[in-house]
Amino acid sequence: MNCCSDDQRFPQLSLCLPDWVEAVLPPVDHRFETLEERMALVIALARRNVEEGSGGPFGAAIFERDSGKLVAPGVNLVVSSCWSGWHAEMVATAMAQQLLGTHDLGAEGLPAYELVASTEPCAMCFGATPWSGVRRLLCGARDADARAIGFDEGPKPMDWRGALAARGIEVVVDLLRDDARAVLHQYQRQGGPIYNGRAGD
Ligand SMILES: [Zn+2]
Repeated sequence: MNCCSDDQRFPQLSLCLPDWVEAVLPPVDHRFETLEERMALVIALARRNVEEGSGGPFGAAIFERDSGKLVAPGVNLVVSSCWSGWHAEMVATAMAQQLLGTHDLGAEGLPAYELVASTEPCAMCFGATPWSGVRRLLCGARDADARAIGFDEGPKPMDWRGALAARGIEVVVDLLRDDARAVLHQYQRQGGPIYNGRAGD
């Protein structure tokens, strides 16, 4: 539903993935059988996002947990979209929910979905994970790896994994961590912007 009229004084928000994303994806009927294969895709998205200069060094995707079907990819679009909230996890989740026509990926009658993130979620994405309805979260690099190159990951509970588990969300960490971390370092070497709010103060 479009709630914005043409003459509205505030902008109509839109979310577009970069043009190059399709080229990174396998054919639509491909099934990602292993967790490592799913993680490798989101790391490839993160790497390409760095190489293309289209955003921060983070990739994500929503998959059907049991079949390995890719539902929607996401990459970090904070700087290009002028919105601090378009982290890769939020982009992938929004894409999947719009595509499936529901705000709740855990709704009755739907298959179980999972969020795959090239780096552990920040405080915002951690908070958004239960709202999304996903049943599993796969993480590559640790948030300490993102902090090490200057990103602010926000005030996340020490036991964030336990907090998600208590809501029935399985968490897998350190999946292809070295590969995911290498993308963070690539971004740092390239001199990519560290776009923390208030410059991290
Ligand atoms: Zn985030």
